[in-house]
Amino acid sequence: MWFRLDLRTLDNPALWEASQNGPVIPIFIWSPNEEDIMPGAASRWWLHHSLEKLGAKLRELGGKLILRSGKSLQNLKSLAKNTGARAVYWNRRYEPLIQKRDDKIEDELKKIGLEVKVFKANLLAEPSEVENKSGLPFKVFTPFWKQCLKQLNTEKPLQPPINFEKRELEPESCNLSELNLKPNHNWAQGLEQEWNPGESNAHLNLKLFINEALKKYTEARNFPDCLGTSRLSPYLRFGEISPKQIWHAIEESGEENWKESQYLTEIGWREFGYHLLYHFPHTISEPLRPAFNRFEWTDNSDHLRAWQQGQTGYPLVDAGMRELWATGWMHNRVRMVVASFLVKHLLIDWRHGAEWFWDTLVDADLASNTQGWQWTAGCGADAAPYFRIFNPVTQSKKFDPAGSYIHRWVPELRGLKPPYLFEPWNAIDIELSAAGIRLGQNYPYPIVDHSKARIRALKAYEKIKK
Ligand SMILES: Cc1cc2nc3c(=O)[nH]c(=O)nc-3n(C[C@H](O)[C@H](O)[C@H](O)COP(=O)(O)OP(=O)(O)OC[C@H]3O[C@@H](n4cnc5c(N)ncnc54)[C@H](O)[C@@H]3O)c2cc1C
Repeated sequence: MWFRLDLRTLDNPALWEASQNGPVIPIFIWSPNEEDIMPGAASRWWLHHSLEKLGAKLRELGGKLILRSGKSLQNLKSLAKNTGARAVYWNRRYEPLIQKRDDKIEDELKKIGLEVKVFKANLLAEPSEVENKSGLPFKVFTPFWKQCLKQLNTEKPLQPPINFEKRELEPESCNLSELNLKPNHNWAQGLEQEWNPGESNAHLNLKLFINEALKKYTEARNFPDCLGTSRLSPYLRFGEISPKQIWHAIEESGEENWKESQYLTEIGWREFGYHLLYHFPHTISEPLRPAFNRFEWTDNSDHLRAWQQGQTGYPLVDAGMRELWATGWMHNRVRMVVASFLVKHLLIDWRHGAEWFWDTLVDADLASNTQGWQWTAGCGADAAPYFRIFNPVTQSKKFDPAGSYIHRWVPELRGLKPPYLFEPWNAIDIELSAAGIRLGQNYPYPIVDHSKARIRALKAYEKIKK
């Protein structure tokens, strides 16, 4: 059983089926050079812990996770040769280069007489099986999700396997630390405090979310300072929990109209991201709407740095960017605001933003990240219209009315209350000095003026409309 982004023992079709057919030898191969984009630092941190937890879980079940690094094909071939394995099982991935690699590996393994079995595990619907009436992929979410709901076959999640290969001489495996996944600077301390990766923790989080937050999700999910969302994204990303398990837990929660619930609709957006990635693989680096190839992005490294460091002078944007740096995660509402600020206020190419998120998010996922950025920039499927430009001040008034989220992440503004907290440059000097704020010294002036930036963005957009 070749583990990849399915680091769980429950509801793992490849693991389950393999164990039905004989004793299983579980292996994980760290092969970053084979990925479409090398995993970022936050993802590597998560992966380290996830593998640690998976190794422990498999030991409880009587198995031993073999860890290797290097070329996947070579490692699989040599393991099969050394152990006499007859078949290789894995769960499907959908990233373009990975798909090509997997097809090649399947061919090569079959050539040497091994049986290969591949399963759907990390999506509710196979992207290749959902199509519109004309037989084409969907580009709009609502009909896509409607069609998925019609087609879904959500049998009960699978049990853990109990059939592992026992042998006197264990196959060669490296130590987890030899994979060098954990960064050696102290930035990761924030992640250690914030997160508990692993399958069991995924289920604990899901339970907590269903008991405490599911009922209020539709409203609360927009407020970044309340525990209104499930925070399951990194667990889903590494396959520590499956969407099918979530689906069944929501069904069993007793929630009315659970199938149409906002929460499952968000799981649907995740599916939509994979659907787009599968059918339009070029969107990892190119806009889905070709007109955006002509868009005149600006190249301003000072602005990009100010955005990355949470020093734009717009408190909500800065709070989000600092939350990301400190915890490896950012609330969805704030992701939309900071992303919009980068592409519309600063006119910086969405690919720079996607790259930064890729490195710093613990849930960095090629499908959701690409879709999130293209949606915000207006160049993706079913995207926010380019002319709709989030005003970061209005967004803070609406979604952080007491300013508690900004106070948490931008401590130098703690002395300032709403409404000036949302736009410190409009506060009178007396207010600012009472709050200990010296604009331009301990908190920046806004790096762009909202109204002017808005007009500039609209003008840039007009050019590609022609
Ligand atoms: C610019 C931008 C970049 C993003 N990059 C990523 C990314 O790299 N990885 C990632 O998992 N999500 C990404 N998202 C989507 C979304 O912000 C996160 O999935 C969500 O914030 C995760 O928090 P949660 O688990 O508490 O979500 P919940 O609200 O509890 O939602 C449950 C699950 O549904 C899925 N989901 C929710 N919202 C979305 C969405 N808008 N698009 C796709 N799936 C969604 C996630 O898997 C999430 O865990 C991005 C959004 C934007 C605007």
